[in-house]
Amino acid sequence: MRNYLCIFILTASIFSCKTSKVAKNLVIDDKIEMESPTDSVSFEIDEIFSLLAYSIVYNYWDPIDRGGRGYNVGCILVDSNNVVLDYGINHVSELENATQHGEVRLITNYLNKEGIYSLNDHSIYSTLEPCAMCGGMMTMVSIVKSVNGQPDYYFSKALERLSFDSRSMGGYGPYPRIVKSVDTPSQFGKILDEEYKKYISSGNKPIITKFLTTSIAESIYQQATQDFLSYTPVFIENQKVYENALKFYQELPDQPK
Ligand SMILES: [Zn+2]
Repeated sequence: MRNYLCIFILTASIFSCKTSKVAKNLVIDDKIEMESPTDSVSFEIDEIFSLLAYSIVYNYWDPIDRGGRGYNVGCILVDSNNVVLDYGINHVSELENATQHGEVRLITNYLNKEGIYSLNDHSIYSTLEPCAMCGGMMTMVSIVKSVNGQPDYYFSKALERLSFDSRSMGGYGPYPRIVKSVDTPSQFGKILDEEYKKYISSGNKPIITKFLTTSIAESIYQQATQDFLSYTPVFIENQKVYENALKFYQELPDQPK
């Protein structure tokens, strides 16, 4: 009963903030800095692709923490023309292999399939902030941007650490090929983060992948999928981007690869 009440409250809160689909302003150093129209268009593109990534994970939702396919984490690869090329989803349980994160599978499968060496100017949209293994792999194949659908607090800030310059403190310079790491502009990133914090404060262990098997997390992903399927782009130039993303979703295989 308590779970159903939580889902009802959560669904109501999602609907109540649905109108702010694309942020118009950024608050930087207590000043309001207006975004340029190009920023807004690109924020909406990031929102559309984040919604697609959530929808793919929901499509293959695994209710079991360990013993099924894997964690409810996935990602998509997008080229510089905003075409979705491929997706990856976590398979650590099915393959009994801790390296089988969505990003690892996406990058290796796509490079092997296309017979190419690297992914210059491509972006990856992950439903969860990438770990050190996946961030390292993104760096080595020259991914330009990682858009993260939910912050992690345990295996966090991998890409930020690789770009950090601590030479003035006797440390190390930034790693080559810095990958820009940004939070998703989608409201679902914040909702997932808030619900995860509540999950921890209720006495649960801080294991984000366990949270991602709860009915609360599943209901957020379900709502993100509904938003994706009924999305109307604010900017006309993003209509084609959305239509192609929707087509990619509709052509997903029955079984996740
Ligand atoms: Zn990873």
